[in-house]
Amino acid sequence: MHLLLIEDDRPLAEALERALRRAGYAVDIARSAAEAEAALKTGTYDLAILDLGLPDRDGAHVLAHLRNRRKRTPVLVLSARDAVDERIRLLDAGADDYVVKPVVFDELEARLRALIRRSQGLADSIVSIGRLRLDIVGKRAVVDDCPLELNSREWAVLEYLGLRVGRIVGKDQLLQAIYDWGEANTENAIEKIVSRIRGKLPPGVVSISTVRGLGYTLEPASNETE
Ligand code: CA
Repeated sequence: MHLLLIEDDRPLAEALERALRRAGYAVDIARSAAEAEAALKTGTYDLAILDLGLPDRDGAHVLAHLRNRRKRTPVLVLSARDAVDERIRLLDAGADDYVVKPVVFDELEARLRALIRRSQGLADSIVSIGRLRLDIVGKRAVVDDCPLELNSREWAVLEYLGLRVGRIVGKDQLLQAIYDWGEANTENAIEKIVSRIRGKLPPGVVSISTVRGLGYTLEPASNETE
């Protein structure tokens, strides 16, 4: 999952970035409305966390701009302003949720999980693909009640493919989904991660096929009927 964190308060942004990375998210930071708009125009994010008090423009402009372009990226607003009419104004403007500062990280993360789940159209946090179960909240993969030992990158790739069963996912999409701006990475890194995941999946559970020149597609193994 790739998040855009729009926050100009450096210590807060860095603390959140560290906590979010530890929780398994790829995170880019924008420190102004202008940076946020540029990032949202070019990047594909699963969610944006938006501070309202930005140095150049009010965060509400970023939200309005995004919704005017009919982008449905979920937006969680972060604000020191706790007035009810303010919250109503932002929810009406297309914010998906609202967290008042000071931020309690566990609450923030629980809200992020709920928003991401909703935006993926999932009623609960377990995705089953044949005998493979992906626990989107717990960030773990289980085959026949036996957990797979995956590192955070491997989990992120498997989750990304698992939420798009039967669809072709480009290596560039995977790169965007799991790495931040700061990390120099190539499609070769994705190939290595996919090959490690294939090695860890017991045979006959799901197949991750290579679609030449396009990317990968994950499907239940052909002997599965589900
Ligand atoms: Ca601020």
